[in-house]
Amino acid sequence: MATDDPYHHTQEDMMDEYFEMAARETLDGMHRGIGGPFGATIIRGGEVVVTVGNRQLGEKDPSQHAEMVAIRDACKALDTLDLSDCTIYATCEPCPMCVGAIIWAGITDCYFASTSADADAAGFTDLHLRRFLRGEDSSVLRLHHVGNREDCDALFPTFWELHPDLTPAPSLA
Ligand SMILES: [Zn+2]
Repeated sequence: MATDDPYHHTQEDMMDEYFEMAARETLDGMHRGIGGPFGATIIRGGEVVVTVGNRQLGEKDPSQHAEMVAIRDACKALDTLDLSDCTIYATCEPCPMCVGAIIWAGITDCYFASTSADADAAGFTDLHLRRFLRGEDSSVLRLHHVGNREDCDALFPTFWELHPDLTPAPSLA
């Protein structure tokens, strides 16, 4: 547990606190009927940026997983799209959507407590996404490519014309 003296907090104490905060916020959201049993805390430079719970029920939005909510709130709070100097603590292993959002936000370290298997056993599965992405089960989504759309293709160069100050992200290919 944390003491009153911040200089005597070990990293483990702090991690303990980040998970506790996320769990408390999640419990609160569950009692208020706004979210499911998942929470997340985002830290920057040892400071808590946000600590949130899942908001799917309250927002009627399947994308409001705790990690997604945390990233949205942190980006707004810090006025940036780049959370590469942040760390995220999630009460449960992030699903593929949230892993994607965490990577999009530039976060390179994510600590989680419960696992995807724990969640599955408790009635909160993300295995259909994992199986789809592993190429094991394509029945959950048919991805249809419709090519030769100049109006769509032209959006890329138009963006760079409108934002000459921005630089394209480096290709990892
Ligand atoms: Zn998720």
